[in-house]
Amino acid sequence: MAPLAGPGVIGKVPGWLLRRDSPMRFRPAADPAQWRWLAAFMRACNAATSEATTRKLLRLAFYSRDLMQAFVASEGAKAEASDFDFARRGKLIVHRDSAAFESARRLLDYQASLGCEQQALDREACIALEPALAGIRDEIAGAIYTPSEEVGDCHRFCLSLARLLQQQSGVSMRFGTVVQGLVQEGDRITGVRTQTGVVPADAVVVAGGIGSVPVLRPAGVRPMLWPLKGYSITVPLSDGGRAPHISITDFANKIVYARIGNTLRVAGMADLVRGGAAIDLERVGTLVAQTRALFDGIVPDIPLAQLQPWAGLRPATPDGLPLVGPSRLHGLWLNLGHGALGFTLAMGSAGLLADQLAGRKPAVNAEDFSAALA
Ligand SMILES: Cc1cc2nc3c(=O)[nH]c(=O)nc-3n(C[C@H](O)[C@H](O)[C@H](O)COP(=O)(O)OP(=O)(O)OC[C@H]3O[C@@H](n4cnc5c(N)ncnc54)[C@H](O)[C@@H]3O)c2cc1C
Repeated sequence: MAPLAGPGVIGKVPGWLLRRDSPMRFRPAADPAQWRWLAAFMRACNAATSEATTRKLLRLAFYSRDLMQAFVASEGAKAEASDFDFARRGKLIVHRDSAAFESARRLLDYQASLGCEQQALDREACIALEPALAGIRDEIAGAIYTPSEEVGDCHRFCLSLARLLQQQSGVSMRFGTVVQGLVQEGDRITGVRTQTGVVPADAVVVAGGIGSVPVLRPAGVRPMLWPLKGYSITVPLSDGGRAPHISITDFANKIVYARIGNTLRVAGMADLVRGGAAIDLERVGTLVAQTRALFDGIVPDIPLAQLQPWAGLRPATPDGLPLVGPSRLHGLWLNLGHGALGFTLAMGSAGLLADQLAGRKPAVNAEDFSAALA
């Protein structure tokens, strides 16, 4: 696990920006917020910041994994785990470039010192472990294998969680209700305004991804978030034998392949563009083409719509650290900025926030994710 802002990233950006099928796209806008975000991102692209961020993210990720495992093993949720295809599949980060593989090996030693269990595999070991990679045998420089990686369908996880919270804890949920603004009295937030009226609250937690920015702005809370737009397709697996069983990250192309139930979820791209979550078919086409190039015969010849093309906005902070905890205003709490790791860190962030709300000592260092300066 490493943040997008790393020491080698700035050098790669010009190449990415010139290729039409590159993993990153940037459309400059006359928007000071975009330039402020980019300047902060570039300041974070150094080894010291990247290592410190990795250390903090790993702690939160380990905590998150522990909470997820406890959740799926709990009596109330056991039946739900199969509903969201939760499984331990392991992950291979496949490198085609020897220099990139060597630097990943060095990072592996650092991450091992932080408690990560990973192995560096050569080409043959990599294919022995995941035969679906045989088609690109000659291109593989090596891979980093993490046996403990888990997968699940995050949308169905949310549905399961909502069901449990409503049935077992009597939580009331208002879907389709838009928060139009915060209700502020002096330096205290006392509720939210919605299209159906004011909802008073002792504590308001803003966890609306990129949509949180306009909600918070009138109260003077300005988290530095920028949407990194990404895409996914979901390939139905009729002949599951040829698809990978282990999750694969194609490091050079920054595309992730994860088998979830009887499907292969393919996700990638990080576009700094305007236009919300509208789907750019050229980007989806790149995902389809890359999947076909990596796993021959996996993507059936069906209309694109049947591959469930999707675009989402990763709410990213420049350095990659989420903001979890109390804000500068009394009664206002943030749970924002998880970038590309929202599902990975969800349970940990929720645990950290719940402990802070309840006045308990959190299991991870709350200052690492402080939201007080936003
Ligand atoms: C292609 C792609 C692949 C990804 N793969 C992974 C992965 O493998 N693992 C991983 O951990 N993460 C992954 N991510 C990242 C993950 O999706 C995000 O980190 C996560 O969705 C952020 O969660 P969030 O709840 O903060 O924001 P969001 O998911 O954006 O959710 C915010 C919610 O708040 C609602 N909202 C916003 N404003 C308002 C308002 N005013 N009133 C009411 N509701 C509002 C929105 O409608 C939305 O439902 C991926 C992202 C993309 C784009």
